[in-house]
Amino acid sequence: MSSSKKKLIAGNWKMNGSLAANEALVKALIAGLQDPACDVAVAVPLLYLAQVQALVAGSSVELAAQDVSAHEAGAYTGEVSAAMLKDFGARYVLVGHSERRQYHGETDAVVAEKTQRALAAGITPIVCVGETLQEREAGQTEVVVKRQLAAVIHVNGHCISEVVVAYEPVWAIGTGRTASPEQAQAVHAVLRAQLAAASEHADRIRLLYGGSMNAANAAQLLAQPDIDGGLVGGASLKAPDFLQIIAAAR
Ligand code: PEP
Repeated sequence: MSSSKKKLIAGNWKMNGSLAANEALVKALIAGLQDPACDVAVAVPLLYLAQVQALVAGSSVELAAQDVSAHEAGAYTGEVSAAMLKDFGARYVLVGHSERRQYHGETDAVVAEKTQRALAAGITPIVCVGETLQEREAGQTEVVVKRQLAAVIHVNGHCISEVVVAYEPVWAIGTGRTASPEQAQAVHAVLRAQLAAASEHADRIRLLYGGSMNAANAAQLLAQPDIDGGLVGGASLKAPDFLQIIAAAR
């Protein structure tokens, strides 16, 4: 059962946006945000971190990156380190999103390294876990999400309570097919129990749900006892929809 911690609604823009579109979106978001009851963040493409950092300055919108290098610094062409993200004001970074696991072959070990790098730089990782449709149909959901969470539960020198966890069933991401509140809560309860076995602060850890969350289904999902927020893809690109989701997170 979650404590009275603030919920977190994080938008994941994925590879969408432009200077003009970002400005319009962030301005509409800030204009519509009246003293939100939850924390709000947007995970933007790396190239736009500086732009969005300036746009959100002084507002309650926090900045997130969508990925981080598993390495600290050096000869890793094309990569961006946690220290660089910190330089541009990133408060959070997504780690192990299913699109990274699927298209970039990120293993649990790599996800753990990235989690460690983020924590070492003072950035809160939002670690994504979730089963594919095939794994769900084979009755493997629990095994898969527990394995993925176990990989980050004992990150050197850090407590798991410094991490945000996002349960994102892969079959629900970008498909319009949302997990039912009961399905999502059942997995969140499994994750909470696993966290409780590892940390006396498990209650403090925010467990987000992600996967086709939208203005119509957010309130029911967010009312579940172990759902402490949302990771929102498509619906975060439309300010009115994202604002309705934020309003549902109390
Ligand atoms: C995501 O990208 O993390 C996500 C949940 O996407 P969508 O909301 O579009 O399913």
